[in-house]
This record gives sequence, C-alpha cells and structure tokens, in this order.
Amino acid sequence: MSIFSHSAYDKHEQVAFYQDAKSGLKAIIAVHNTNLGPSLGGCRMWPYADDGEALNDVLRLSRGMTYKSAMAGLKLGGGKSVIIGDPRKDKTPELLRAMGEFINTLGGRYITAEDSGTSVEDMHIIGERTEFVSGLNESSEHGGDPSPSTAYGVFVGLKAAVEHRWGRTDLSGLKVSVQGVGNVGFRLAKLLEEAGAELFVTDIFQDNIDRAVNQLGATAVGAEEIFDLDVDLFAPCAMGAILNDDTISRLKVGAIAGAANNQLAEERHAEVLREKGMLYAPDYVINAGGIIDVYYQQQGSPERGGDGYDPAQVKAHIETIGTTMQEVFQRAEESGETTAHVADRVAEERFGHEDALKKTDSAAA
Ligand code: NAD
Repeated sequence: MSIFSHSAYDKHEQVAFYQDAKSGLKAIIAVHNTNLGPSLGGCRMWPYADDGEALNDVLRLSRGMTYKSAMAGLKLGGGKSVIIGDPRKDKTPELLRAMGEFINTLGGRYITAEDSGTSVEDMHIIGERTEFVSGLNESSEHGGDPSPSTAYGVFVGLKAAVEHRWGRTDLSGLKVSVQGVGNVGFRLAKLLEEAGAELFVTDIFQDNIDRAVNQLGATAVGAEEIFDLDVDLFAPCAMGAILNDDTISRLKVGAIAGAANNQLAEERHAEVLREKGMLYAPDYVINAGGIIDVYYQQQGSPERGGDGYDPAQVKAHIETIGTTMQEVFQRAEESGETTAHVADRVAEERFGHEDALKKTDSAAA
C-alpha cells in the first residue's frame, strides 16, 4: 500500500497510525492542513474491509474538512480519524481511552468529535485521556449533537439557492424532495414545513418516514421514486455519491441543496448539473453548520478560557453560510464555472494563503 503517492494523499501534513494490542485499537489520524488552525474533524468507527479502505476514507475525509472549515470562516484546519472495527461489537471504554491517548500524542494538532459510529458519550470517554475533543457541550440544548446546527445551515443555504435560482425569498408552495429524514433531514424538513414548503420524503426506515408524514404532513415516496419527481428542489440528506449519471438523468429539479457529504459521484458531475441548469449548492459549504457548532463548543469552553457556548453567536455564524453560498453562485454565474469548482477555489485561496500563517490559536487548541 502506498502512502505518499496515494491518490488521496494530496499534500497531507501528517498521517499517524496507532495500535494498542490490549484494547484491540487500530486507528489512523490524518491531518491534512493546519494553515488556519488546529485540525478538527470527527472520529469515524467502521468495519473497513481492509487497511487500504480505512486509509482512503480518512485521507478523503480530512481533506474535505480543510475545505469545509475554510469556507465556514473558522480558524481551523482539516483532519479526521478512523477506528477500524465494528462499533456495535468492538467498541469498549478501553478502546476509546486508547484512542484518547493516541489523539493526545498529536499535542493538539488534531481535535476530535463524534462521527458515524461514535457518539457524544464516546467523546466523553475519549476525553478522559485527552483535552483535544469537542462536541461535549452538555449545557447546549442538544447535548453536543451538531445535527440541529447542520440542519439550520442547510436551510439557510437552501434559501440562498432559491433566491439565486428563482429570485424569491419566501419558500411557500416550493416543492422540495428530501432523501433521508434522519437527524439532519428531519430537522431540515421541519424548518421547510414551517416556511410553507410542500414536502416529499423518502427513507429506508419506515418509522422515519412516518414521523415526517405524521408530524410535517409530508408525502411519502419510494426510495427510487424520489429521483423522478416533478419538484423544484432536491435535498439529499442520506448518503454520498447520490449525484451520478443515473440520478442526474432522472432529476427534473432546478436546484440541489442538502446535507449529505460527498454528493457528487465524480467531479465531472458538477459540470453535468451545470449544463442541465440545476443549481448545485456545494455540499461542504452548505453542511458546515455542524462544524461551526462544534468549533464554538470547543473554543467557548471555560477550560479553554472561553465565555461559554453562546447560541446566538453560533446562529449568527451559521447564517454566514447564506452569504458565502450567494458569493459562490454569483462567481460561478459570472465565470461560467461550476459552483463546486468555485467553492474549491475560494477555499484554497483561504487556507492556502501566505498570510494564513500556521497560527495554532491557543484558544482553539
Ligand atoms: P442519519 O443517519 O441520522 O440520517 C440519514 C438518513 O438517511 C437515515 O434516516 C437513513 O435511514 C436514511 N437513508 C440511508 N440510506 C438511504 C437511502 N438509500 N434512501 C433513503 N434514505 C436513506 O445521518 P445524519 O446525521 O442526518 O446525516 C445525514 C447526511 O448528512 C450524511 O451524509 C452525513 O454525512 C451528512 N452530514 C451530517 C452532519 C451532522 O451534523 N449530522 C454534518 C455534516 C454532514
């Protein structure tokens, strides 16, 4: 397995491997870029088929975090960690404590948070061994869970897309399809319902569908049918690679704005969307509400000299997603480039800038 020449390596600053025989921990931390501050990104636990799959995932995800935090205007770099194992079978307090020790060896260059396969409770256990952990804010309304903030950021970004595409600021009567009404998708659907949108939802779990139908008056549609609907906007809130040759040829929407990470199956799909006149809200720009929330949970904690977590400050920062999104749409329209390409370029200008010195903000670290 190659490392430095790995296709996803892309100028990573550091990749660390760790094994703890006693607890069975096998983990990788990838630090992509710390120009803007210490790297922050979730700890994913997954039963990867092999080490190569785990390495590929952590490299791709940590790079994505650099772009996401830069676009969100945070003094953070990009990093991510993966634990190789099945979270339902292999996760033990000993293993999580060993992970805390591993994170601690990086001395604050990497700060962790919850992700797929890890929870707020797990972060507390990791936190027994390292201070470089976020998403523990029990005093916040949601006990550290960033999903409500992610949903709010997507809502703000979606409104910017509607304004750019149709020149309207109200959402009443707008037909929106939501794929995946889980933690983020359901909350987004609720905000859309309150704003008067007409909802069409799908999920692989019937109870999630029932919740949206019963509580929000949404229309339930099949998992495949969601791509063929005659609606205005598609909000993918389930999984990645959902914008591919098959789905794009079926979608009839004017805009796509949702929470899922890595929505484009391949980079070229951004161009296909542009040619078809579907306005695409780049995923890592629109779904940054969660990382913004986690940043303030970390930075605002009294142990770090902060004044505490201020929900109004967090909300105001999340609302900047709307202006960033408008800027991306505008620049793409003027230059004829895809929105995804413009977002990448703006992010690179921000984190790669000479002035963005390696300033490891002690307050944030
Ligand atoms: P979640 O697991 O709570 O919700 C995902 C939902 O999608 C589930 O209800 C699941 O049943 C459904 N689903 C899965 N496959 C599906 C399919 N083929 N068709 C229809 N529904 C399907 O996860 P979440 O926290 O709500 O995250 C949703 C997406 O947003 C993910 O891609 C995640 O990476 C991304 N994201 C989440 C956050 C956050 O703060 N939670 C932040 C940034 C990005």
